[in-house]
Amino acid sequence: MKTRIPLSVSHMSGNELDYIKDALLNNEVTTYGNNITEFEKDLESYLNQNKNVACLSSGTAAIHLALIQLGIGFGDEVICQSFTFCASANPIVYVGAKPIFVDSEIETWNICPIALEEAIKDRLKKGMKPKAIIMVHLYGMPSKIDKILAVANKYDINVIEDAAEALGSSYKGRKCGTFGDFSILSFNGNKIITTSGGGALVCNSIKQKKQSIYFATQARENEAHYEHKNIGYNYRMSNISAGIGRAQLKALEAHINLRRKNNRFYNKLFASIEGVELFKEPNSDFYSNYWLNCITINSELTKVSKEEVFNILASKNIESRPLWKPLHMQPVFSTSPMYKNGMCEKLFNQGLCLPSSSNLKDNDLIRIKEAFNEIFYV
Ligand SMILES: *Cc1c(COP(=O)(O)O)cnc(C)c1O
Repeated sequence: MKTRIPLSVSHMSGNELDYIKDALLNNEVTTYGNNITEFEKDLESYLNQNKNVACLSSGTAAIHLALIQLGIGFGDEVICQSFTFCASANPIVYVGAKPIFVDSEIETWNICPIALEEAIKDRLKKGMKPKAIIMVHLYGMPSKIDKILAVANKYDINVIEDAAEALGSSYKGRKCGTFGDFSILSFNGNKIITTSGGGALVCNSIKQKKQSIYFATQARENEAHYEHKNIGYNYRMSNISAGIGRAQLKALEAHINLRRKNNRFYNKLFASIEGVELFKEPNSDFYSNYWLNCITINSELTKVSKEEVFNILASKNIESRPLWKPLHMQPVFSTSPMYKNGMCEKLFNQGLCLPSSSNLKDNDLIRIKEAFNEIFYV
């Protein structure tokens, strides 16, 4: 059996050990230290919008702390795009609020601004004003940010930007992760850069950053003894992980270029296959890090189903994966309201993610190409 070609794996720059070694030599093997301080500064200057970054144990934790700081609690409603990973919505439930799901639009696969406004109007009619909108940039593709923010502003609703998959992507020249009232990043092992596990909450003020760190370190008051006025969490990033992040962030630009190169490879591969559509930037306003390359398969045209493609790739030890199963279709969210236009269910039925790591080898690309040529007989 040939070696497995995975969907997306970590890619070391080679300098990670230097930062880890510093932490060990300085005995900063804890949740504070030079690596955390410097990684936060590096992220702030990378995002380049006067942002204040708090490094946390995960992107999920970052969404949780964003909801808490927006004052969202029991019985509140929060809008989230249905077509996403469960971590976008789970923290809504952690705070006792209710997720309200909204469908996607065809160009970016992210939340549809029209369906979004319909959802808000309907919730208002029912006497519930949504407290926040969770806007996601799926697979690295920026959402229609201007239109979504315009709707949010019109109804005066806060936006949490889930840029977990979109570090390095930008919209109209501005980096994803800088558009929300709070924005979140993830450095999980399969993302474009990693700290092994980790995330960050991007804040608009130093005060919010300090408050985020306060909640992430058990909400300890400034007293000699342990004094607590709030329920806190153990959500701070480890200084060892932050060391990995510092080295990784320096490699981010290279990772983006390599992932974009994978996109050009797939673009060429699928150009002449009728019925297979590669997910691409709609126009030059959108710059994707192409974290994952995705295709939709119209099996009436290809005569091959998504499931068959998946199975043939698997038989050749090439990993692929169906697109995110919409959250409104998940058993755990079956009672949550959904504002539908049919888009995300169609994407789930037709779509596959393909190997997209920044460290794919030329030989991997040849195997992928041969597999698809065999599948589609071209
Ligand atoms: C990965 C991911 C998250 C969560 O990040 P973790 O660091 O794994 O907790 C949230 N939203 C989306 C869209 C993600 O892909």
